[in-house]
Amino acid sequence: MSSTPTAADLSDDVLVAGAGYVGLATAVAIADAAPGLRVRVVDAAPDGVWRKDERASAVAAAAVRMLRRLGAWDDIAPAAQPITEMIVTDSRTGDPVRPVFLTFDGDVRPGEPFAQMVPNTALNGALRARADALGITVQAGAAVTALEERPGGIGVRLADGTRLDAKLLVACDGLKSGIREMAGIRTVGWHYGQSGIVATVKHERPHGGRAEEHFLPAGPFAILPLTGDRSSLVWTEETREAERLVAADELIFEEELQRRFGHRLGALTLEGGRRAFPLGLTLARDFVRPRIALAGDAAHGIHPIAGQGLNLGFKDAAALAETVVEAARLGRDIGALDTLEGYQRWRRFDTLQMGVTTDVLNRLFSNDSTLLRQVRSLGLSLVDRAPGLKRFFIDQAAGLSSGPTPRLLTGEAI
Ligand SMILES: Cc1cc2nc3c(=O)[nH]c(=O)nc-3n(C[C@H](O)[C@H](O)[C@H](O)COP(=O)(O)OP(=O)(O)OC[C@H]3O[C@@H](n4cnc5c(N)ncnc54)[C@H](O)[C@@H]3O)c2cc1C
Repeated sequence: MSSTPTAADLSDDVLVAGAGYVGLATAVAIADAAPGLRVRVVDAAPDGVWRKDERASAVAAAAVRMLRRLGAWDDIAPAAQPITEMIVTDSRTGDPVRPVFLTFDGDVRPGEPFAQMVPNTALNGALRARADALGITVQAGAAVTALEERPGGIGVRLADGTRLDAKLLVACDGLKSGIREMAGIRTVGWHYGQSGIVATVKHERPHGGRAEEHFLPAGPFAILPLTGDRSSLVWTEETREAERLVAADELIFEEELQRRFGHRLGALTLEGGRRAFPLGLTLARDFVRPRIALAGDAAHGIHPIAGQGLNLGFKDAAALAETVVEAARLGRDIGALDTLEGYQRWRRFDTLQMGVTTDVLNRLFSNDSTLLRQVRSLGLSLVDRAPGLKRFFIDQAAGLSSGPTPRLLTGEAI
């Protein structure tokens, strides 16, 4: 961080860098609970670009409660598909039959599914509308390029040379967070040598709200239900093979896809594009510095095997907003290290636990060892027969069970 003290063009209480899902949720949660705080969001992308994310995300029940409390859910609901059941299989790609080892069904509470599939555009659009309604300034084409020390605050320089001041900078600038680097926060992690191919398919028969996770030797192949006889795919392959498949002719891609997808839902047609995301584990060693807090992928990037990356980010948003709003109500400095350390303590264990769990699951399942296959099938069938353990996994998937839950995730106001 440079220490040149220069006058700022604009001054705010909270400056959020990154108008992705986590950045917008954090800004909305703070502004909604503490209207006296001035909140600004800046994003590097030109206006509208971040809304073109064709992916969909499994949003856990706890995050749905938060989005409802923040007034965003009514806009999202028409595009959301509840997941009513989930099945898990463990087989080889060409196996004619894939025995089901594990099934989850049932709601968290009556009428409340443990997760819902939501198109990312709907998520971003609804959060952006709430930010606008709360009077939050969202600036596009405004990348943070440098940080400067200020007495009682932090200075930020944008790509166009504008200088901003804030008491707290929240870095939601994604997996390759430049702010994390500028703040000197190191990460631990590794690449898996795998990429997740993401695509949307339309099928002949209805999915009935069922999600499927097929553990194949190259990695998990997830079929996640969307509205209107469509499904979202997260298809893990070794990175070079994923690149080949994404670049392949559509007919070849569809044939490879059908081999893995099976024929239960009839013939498939691709809708929209296909993209491959390199997969790895990245955990920030610290989530905070004086005047800086990391949230979302800037703090942690995990394997999508359990569909929990964004849900972890929403938990960060809820915990950070609660920490900041309570400090402001008590007249404390919202950017002081001791305030922010409360947030770090709250989030670090849960994040580490999820990072390790997804890492172990991926290593355990992404291979073709006969011995491991036997251990896995024994483990999965034991879980399937133990109602208490299944309840635990459903609560985990719903984002409801690790440590003290931020109020927004239980549906309460901060
Ligand atoms: C294949 C795949 C499938 C997934 N499926 C799921 C799922 O089903 N459920 C789930 O919970 N999670 C899932 N995830 C994870 C989820 O997509 C991410 O956790 C989530 O997108 C992170 O959101 P974010 O807001 O932290 O970051 P991002 O969405 O990456 O947003 C970062 C923002 O910061 C901006 N930015 C970057 N640099 C700067 C800068 N210097 N200054 C200002 N702005 C900047 C960018 O323009 C961007 O808008 C999946 C991930 C992958 C790869």
